[in-house]
Amino acid sequence: MFFFNLNSIEFLVINQQISFQFPNEITLHIKREDMIHPFVSGNKFRKLKYNLLKAKEEKKIKLLTFGGAFSNHIAAVAYAGKDNNFETIGIIRGDELESYITENPTLLFAQECGMKFQFVSREEYKNKTTNLFIENLKNRYGDFYLIPEGGANSLAVKGCEEIITEEDSRFSHICCSIGTGGTISGLINASHLHQKIIGFSSLKGEFLSDDIRKFAVKNNWELVTDYHFGGYGKINEELVRFINDFYKQTTIPLDPIYTGKMLFGIIDLIEKGYFPKGANILAIHTGGLQGIKGMNVYLKKKNLQQIITQ
Ligand SMILES: *Cc1c(COP(=O)(O)O)cnc(C)c1O
Repeated sequence: MFFFNLNSIEFLVINQQISFQFPNEITLHIKREDMIHPFVSGNKFRKLKYNLLKAKEEKKIKLLTFGGAFSNHIAAVAYAGKDNNFETIGIIRGDELESYITENPTLLFAQECGMKFQFVSREEYKNKTTNLFIENLKNRYGDFYLIPEGGANSLAVKGCEEIITEEDSRFSHICCSIGTGGTISGLINASHLHQKIIGFSSLKGEFLSDDIRKFAVKNNWELVTDYHFGGYGKINEELVRFINDFYKQTTIPLDPIYTGKMLFGIIDLIEKGYFPKGANILAIHTGGLQGIKGMNVYLKKKNLQQIITQ
């Protein structure tokens, strides 16, 4: 796969905002949603905002949610729960993880924030949205406010609509990374029809389109599915090299699961002529930087180059 040498493009940093000038009068601007908050970063902050307000309104004491071992969402719910006086319960995929909490920076962080875990097998986890599964959780934990996996529901989409402001109407293209599709749905709803919203899938498969159609009220979007690097959570040396070069040259850290893949994809597509002459592209940095530590534990074990953070 093609590797872009960042040395050959110009970039500007103004107030931590960054703009790149490419040939063919194409500009790329990065919106630093990763800087909203150190622990509840990027889109996870946006997705939790109205859900926590609703939980308060309903006088709930507990938040319950679901996630994998390195989940940005689990970390965000744990911290936001602590900060807003909710008890938090995380239903974690993979029952083998229970004995490895101390080796897992995400789970360790969530535990330090007071989150209680229930580890379930990958088989059981697949049933997590069934009535029976939820009933069992209610019997065990009592009343709680349920936040779906990845935080994706209509209140989350409403929060993500606030990522885009009126000033952003000058952009012709808006790019984001996709997990559940909640974030891109918010961007689509807040966009103007002259803008194209492009989602870079972090997972394999086209199934995401249906999820996006559930929440999105416009059709000015498309999915790019060529930059998942083997699937969700998978990376290779080329991606690590890209993330490290990008960081060295711009001082912007990218995460390996979402934003690293998206930026790699955007730059590759610019090179390949995907964007029209004069395109003014906005890329949303959705955060996720807490995931770097966990990925580095894995890379170190495999004796591979790690992601640099300073
Ligand atoms: C969760 C996450 C995404 C995916 O957002 P969805 O709304 O689930 O599509 C993208 N980027 C980062 C950094 C995330 O943590």
